Amino acid sequence: QQEEWAKLKDEPTFSKEGEQVELVANIGTPNDIDGVLNNGGEGVGLYRTEFLYMGKSELPSEEEQFEAYKTVLERMDGKPVVVRTLDVGGDKELSYLNLPKEMNPFLGFRAIRFCLENEAVFRPQLRALLRASAYGNLKIMFPMIATLEEFRQAKSILLDEKKSLKADDVKVSEDIEVGIMVEIPSTAVTAKQFAKEVDFFSIGTNDLIQYTMAADRMNERVSYLYQPYHPAILNLVNNVIQAAHKEGKWTGMCGEMAGDPIAIPILLGLGLDEFSMSATSILPARTQIKNLSKKDISKHKEQILSMRTADEVVEFIREITE
Ligand code: PEP
Ligand code: MG
Repeated sequence: QQEEWAKLKDEPTFSKEGEQVELVANIGTPNDIDGVLNNGGEGVGLYRTEFLYMGKSELPSEEEQFEAYKTVLERMDGKPVVVRTLDVGGDKELSYLNLPKEMNPFLGFRAIRFCLENEAVFRPQLRALLRASAYGNLKIMFPMIATLEEFRQAKSILLDEKKSLKADDVKVSEDIEVGIMVEIPSTAVTAKQFAKEVDFFSIGTNDLIQYTMAADRMNERVSYLYQPYHPAILNLVNNVIQAAHKEGKWTGMCGEMAGDPIAIPILLGLGLDEFSMSATSILPARTQIKNLSKKDISKHKEQILSMRTADEVVEFIREITE
């Protein structure tokens, strides 16, 4: 099996009938790039930048961030790299920011909510990203977007920094796609409206599942409700993909679900364009997709989306992919 995987290392990813999808990796630091390249990653689908901010006593400088982003872009050598802007709060705490304790941190002041109110933190990150964009194929993604106003505000700050860098004759790529994480149900439901303004979506199922099922992703007692294959989740995922495609945009997924062998056939059938997972899952996923017919699975799409329970979905997927 290892041998079969190795053969696919430098190959693109095709389904049985030759439909192409993209298999990319989630990373946390530039050190993870070796793993991405050794495992045949076609790019980076989620660079979680929190690690730059964690385990230290103060904010990372613009320069420090620029070096990290540039390293990742250069090493990926023109392959796409989706960098997510700072997603603090929730399960990711930064002691030096002295944020007050909240009753419901997952529903609180985190990620883009924090960044839009703390431009002194947000702007240096955006400048570092814009400067690094000259060294590869950068895409910028905002986390925890709940409303279109948040996206517009974040994008306008980005464009503002771009203008100021260009005024100083700093080289900035003109081809940076700007997209959002879809991890809040309001955004998944109104994907049609978002699709007119964003360049891409990446579905963050780790959070989307917890918010849709109202089940804390860290709480064992309610983990039985944390159901990736629940028809509610699949219908939201489908809605996002359809909305994107109608506007000629692409949709990825960067939650754990994207690398899950049971979810992969469903996501392929729903038309997901990009699957972002831990590097070690890439070659197994490529092997699996090579043996799946996207067309056959998509014939069952309406049936799957109308199922009543997650168990019913799993049983059906097992049957049709055996
Ligand atoms: C997600 O929510 O699915 C996601 C990828 O982000 P994180 O796990 O970092 O919250
Ligand atoms: Mg998330």
